[in-house]
Amino acid sequence: MELESSETAEKIHLMESHRLDSFKIWPFTAENNCNIKSMAEAGFYYCGTENDSDSAACFCCGKVLNGWESTDIPIDEHRKHAPQCFFVKIGKFEKDLTVEEFLRVFQASITGGISRKIVKTRIKIRSACHKFRNEFYKKF
Ligand SMILES: [Zn+2]
Repeated sequence: MELESSETAEKIHLMESHRLDSFKIWPFTAENNCNIKSMAEAGFYYCGTENDSDSAACFCCGKVLNGWESTDIPIDEHRKHAPQCFFVKIGKFEKDLTVEEFLRVFQASITGGISRKIVKTRIKIRSACHKFRNEFYKKF
């Protein structure tokens, strides 16, 4: 079981400019609704892989969406699939946030990130215990 991994050093994509920089590859261009600027504005950063090239995650709630279509409007998709997201609930893009709202979004993203890591770690521990138990009973 490996608990120390790159996950623990997961980059926080709090700033829109950092999210924008994360889109090194993206199947859509500036002419499409779901261009990288609109994606970053709507809270998404790139988290795709070779086999899943259009995955993007929210920096605040962690929601991962893929299967984007050129006509999709990122903030509308975010609202539709993660209405509980604090960033969505505030309903403003980064440039319109007050300092207090920005700090509240930051707090929500950190709290959410920690909760997601706890859930992932619990799953890993449970899986490791299950594996250990099975190996133990095979021996005796
Ligand atoms: Zn979100």
